[in-house]
Amino acid sequence: MTKGTVAIVGAGLVGCVAALAFEKKGYKVLLFESRPDCRSPDQIAKYSFRSINLAVSARGIETLRFIDDKLAEKVLANVLPMHARMVHDLKGNQVSQDYGLNGEAINSIDRAYLNRLLLDEVDIKNNIKTYYNHKLVASDFEAEGGRVMLTFEHEGKPIIFEVDSLVGADGAYSTTRKHLQRNVRMNFSQDYIDHAYLELYIPPNPASVSNEDKWSISPNHLHIWPRHAFMLIALANLDGSFTSTMFAPWKCFEELDSDDKIIGFFEQNFPDALKLMGKDTILNSFHQNPRGSLVSTKCNPYNLAGKCIIIGDAAHSMVPFYGQGMNCGFEDVRVLINILEKNEFNIQQTYDEYSMTRNKDLLSIIDLSMNNYTEMRHSVVSNTYLLRKKIDGI
Ligand code: FAD
Repeated sequence: MTKGTVAIVGAGLVGCVAALAFEKKGYKVLLFESRPDCRSPDQIAKYSFRSINLAVSARGIETLRFIDDKLAEKVLANVLPMHARMVHDLKGNQVSQDYGLNGEAINSIDRAYLNRLLLDEVDIKNNIKTYYNHKLVASDFEAEGGRVMLTFEHEGKPIIFEVDSLVGADGAYSTTRKHLQRNVRMNFSQDYIDHAYLELYIPPNPASVSNEDKWSISPNHLHIWPRHAFMLIALANLDGSFTSTMFAPWKCFEELDSDDKIIGFFEQNFPDALKLMGKDTILNSFHQNPRGSLVSTKCNPYNLAGKCIIIGDAAHSMVPFYGQGMNCGFEDVRVLINILEKNEFNIQQTYDEYSMTRNKDLLSIIDLSMNNYTEMRHSVVSNTYLLRKKIDGI
């Protein structure tokens, strides 16, 4: 006997974790994803030229443990812990700033690897059925028998499913949220910052002779090149490379409109990073990789009775400077399931209580993420100065 059928829209990081959590509590789960399976060979080939990583923190790991200790261990076996940030100044000096007094760390992990691992986990659960290439296009929350009727577009045709409840984990531009907004008096705001991001790449150490020296800079740091108005960061990958991200005003990217200007900009602002990346790699990234926009979304309530709720970026996208977007989405799942158990699986009571109690924390983390941009691109420099003053007596 299942407790009911839950549709989860979005098989990204948060949707997969939600599917596993609902299944564990006895629900039948239908997991829908608009894209093809990211593990299929053509999809792997499509994305293999880029290795995008992110930081998984204690907040996210606690949720993975809540679902299954073994799942958390599998994830942790493939991370690189970062115990400190490493601040790079213009002369190439590096100063380490610990994240905690007791060796606390955030962990660098390959995003695609994590998504694939979660999908592998989803696949072995009998009570989760996954539908790829199914894009949610309509939701009827007044279907007969109190059920929810969902329409998906699949290979150009509409397909209808009936479920007891819909969980929207379909990202910052959520369709579920739009459907919810037509039925709920939802307060909603969306803020773009005037900065964009671009993914860059630091190849493995070309002079490497052993497994230990395959990284050109420390793999156990989150590297930052703070330059006040803009910055560069880098997180290590297991193969010796680093995924680096440049954050800067849109205007700055627009002005870098020739190869000479791009290289000149790096010579002036990130000379040590230029050496690590190499001119060709930088130019390649500038020519091939898209500029991404950065958006914060706040809304409340997150639900319509027990019929629909939104979690993850669908409910609270945030700028990435606190490294907590996914972690916070994972936490949503843990908080929601804890309330569900407390309310003896009364879904309506659970969703209502979640909306009422979760909002305050989500608004705080969205604001903290925004404030941390100033910290990372600007304030760390003064901290570095203070630290060096303490150590070197300068
Ligand atoms: P998404 O990852 O956006 O997944 C949504 C899924 O829904 C997608 O697969 C999409 O195809 C699918 N979908 C969309 N519409 C439909 C539809 N109509 N029907 C069916 N499926 C649909 N977070 C961290 O915790 N740590 C970090 O270090 C970190 N670094 C970041 C760095 C950058 C540069 C950026 C931009 C973000 C970073 N984040 C980080 C944030 C993190 O990427 C997001 O919070 C996380 O991906 C949100 O996961 P999600 O599953 O909610 O949404």
